[in-house]
Amino acid sequence: MTAQQMTCKNCNRLYSIEPEDLEFYEKMSVPVPRLCPDCRFKRRAQFRNERILYSRPCDKCKKSIISVYHEESPYTVYCLDCFDADDWDAFQYGTPYDSHRPFFEQMDELLKRVPKKALGITGGSNNINSDYTNTAANNKNCYLLFNTSYCEDTMYSRGLMRCRDTVDAYFGIDMERCYEAVNVHQSSGVIFGHNVTNCVDSWFLLSCTDCINCFGCVNLRHKSYHWFNEELTKNEYEKRLAEVKGSCQKLNEMRKKFEEFALQFPHRENNNMKSEDCTGDYLFSSTALRDCYEITEGENCKYMFASKNIKDSYDTLGYGYGSELLLDCAATGYANRVIGSYWVENGHDCEYCFFTHASEYCFGCDGLKKGKYCILNREYSEKEYHALREKIIDELKRDGEYGLFFPPVIAPFSYNEAVAQDYMPLTKEEALAQGYRWQDKLPMTVGAETLAPESIPDHIVQVTSTITKDVLACLDCKRNYKITPKELAFYQNMSLPIPRQCFSCRHVDRIKRRGPMKLFERSCVKCSKDIRTTFAPNRPEIVYCVECYQAEVI
Ligand SMILES: [Zn+2]
Ligand SMILES: [Zn+2]
Ligand SMILES: [Zn+2]
Ligand SMILES: [Zn+2]
Repeated sequence: MTAQQMTCKNCNRLYSIEPEDLEFYEKMSVPVPRLCPDCRFKRRAQFRNERILYSRPCDKCKKSIISVYHEESPYTVYCLDCFDADDWDAFQYGTPYDSHRPFFEQMDELLKRVPKKALGITGGSNNINSDYTNTAANNKNCYLLFNTSYCEDTMYSRGLMRCRDTVDAYFGIDMERCYEAVNVHQSSGVIFGHNVTNCVDSWFLLSCTDCINCFGCVNLRHKSYHWFNEELTKNEYEKRLAEVKGSCQKLNEMRKKFEEFALQFPHRENNNMKSEDCTGDYLFSSTALRDCYEITEGENCKYMFASKNIKDSYDTLGYGYGSELLLDCAATGYANRVIGSYWVENGHDCEYCFFTHASEYCFGCDGLKKGKYCILNREYSEKEYHALREKIIDELKRDGEYGLFFPPVIAPFSYNEAVAQDYMPLTKEEALAQGYRWQDKLPMTVGAETLAPESIPDHIVQVTSTITKDVLACLDCKRNYKITPKELAFYQNMSLPIPRQCFSCRHVDRIKRRGPMKLFERSCVKCSKDIRTTFAPNRPEIVYCVECYQAEVI
């Protein structure tokens, strides 16, 4: 069998269905998807708003709460306590399926009737003094932290585990006193690190391991007192560092110089570790993954992002733990044979379900616990369930929708509120043209600044605590932002200047540094072997295959 070329019904781009894909779709008893992998990602990513947080009342107790749902959104939103209380039951919202109306229209109505949880946080999440966090658990004294667990005194970050005193990081484990980190592990005091393991007290590192007191270095192993890959005496190193640290202007110059310097060195085709037979990036302890990103312990999966410990699945976003046979799911874990669903946990044979836990054989349900043979939150006999399910599937197949995620028209979030915008950014016009919604009222102000960017002192020693009372304006997008007292103490302790960009722009900048979720065909600059890498062919980096990189760097 050979690959079959398809045209995406949404964006008209060509994509291919490989023989291995056909096998998987047959196993899941779904037709071949009519959307390309990117359009499929955009759909499910619209169900996940990680970091746009609104202030609004709980629709039950009326307390003021932080929520991923806008106050004007048509959903009933409960605070975590009201949501977890025993005085309501999702079964009470059950409704008979009407075969004369489209299924997704009925699903949309159900989604709007059943209360929604204010945040993506579970009851036993154990977050202490960390109100402004989402999809996060077991964090203490943290602020604006997403998809993160077991962190302390950590701010403005995503995808971390067991980190302390860290600010502005994307994807990393066991960091302490780190700043502007992308894929940094087991490190302490690393500022502007990218692909760094086991490093201490260093600035501007790319692909370094076991380094201490290094500045502006690329591809180094077991080194200390190196400045742009050149060895210095301890005194000379400290003198140079003292001249630049703390100053916004000097660090900006150093960052620019470092980015140009790094272009002389080979870059590894990917950042996969302990993984075999995989394509994608940031894959750890995995086997046989295709076009996957940020996956740990994955096996035999394709088109996945940010899932862990999962096998035999396609098109998932987040979570994953202990799951297999998931198809086009977001935030689904400890589950088996689940299709087109959001946050299904401890269940199996669920399709088009939203936040449905400990359930089996459910179709189009929302908020159910221990559901069995349920459709639109109404329970049926086993026989009735299967007959009705077949009927709905026939309808979805006619529309080319069966096997795909919920259509964007019923997504709870607009494109620019959800992680879709972080990873596949669109302008408002593009988003609307592709059938997605757009939120014009994001929680932000512009023009309310009390201190212009050029009036912020260049050096951190010139900054006083009054800056925590000021409203700043982002140099890039003009959005207003503030510096918290704790954040100021961090910059002072670490000799770092006040950031001139808002959190949102800093976050997007880190995602750009991480690289796109897209693979390009290139050949290794050294041995000419064909490689698939996130470095586009027109990028200036020198890209080596893993073998050539390892032969030269380690
Ligand atoms: Zn498409
Ligand atoms: Zn409440
Ligand atoms: Zn900004
Ligand atoms: Zn090579």
